[in-house]
Amino acid sequence: IETLTLNLKDEQETIAVGEQLAKITAAPLVIYLTGDLGAGKTTLSRGLIQGLGHQGAVKSPTYALVEPYELNGMEVFHFDLYRLSDPEELEFMGIRDYFTERSVCIIEWPDHGHGLLPPADMHLRLKYVNTGRELQIEALSPLGLSLLQQIK
Ligand code: ADP
Ligand code: MG
Repeated sequence: IETLTLNLKDEQETIAVGEQLAKITAAPLVIYLTGDLGAGKTTLSRGLIQGLGHQGAVKSPTYALVEPYELNGMEVFHFDLYRLSDPEELEFMGIRDYFTERSVCIIEWPDHGHGLLPPADMHLRLKYVNTGRELQIEALSPLGLSLLQQIK
């Protein structure tokens, strides 16, 4: 297992990592984002989505469960499964249709969709450390590994 650990001292650094990931992002890609509430999952997603060219706000998709974007010819889906009480709800929303050859799926709280999500190429884990955050990036597929090597 390949991992990279980064210290992110403030919000700007979390956004910068997202922007850095955007530079090497290509579909298809599945990214899991985990960490406690307020750890910075949505902040990092914002850096990534804006880095892919989205102009304007990146809202937390908490109520809708998923926020779609069309960027650089890719479908980008930002999921937040925090409020998902039953993974079967994912079946009702047609979850499989989101994971295509041209989609990039960024998933906060993937553990809430356990068993119904495809495996991730990369798992990003955010942790509180003092006033900042620690980010661990784990590559889980050959694709994830090649992306990780590009940011090392
Ligand atoms: P989550 O989606 O994990 O619940 P959010 O991204 O919504 O978290 O909120 C993270 C909060 O922490 C925001 O207030 C943001 O400004 C702050 N934050 C993000 N990254 C850092 C960091 N590296 N150091 C300190 N604060 C951060
Ligand atoms: Mg969030």
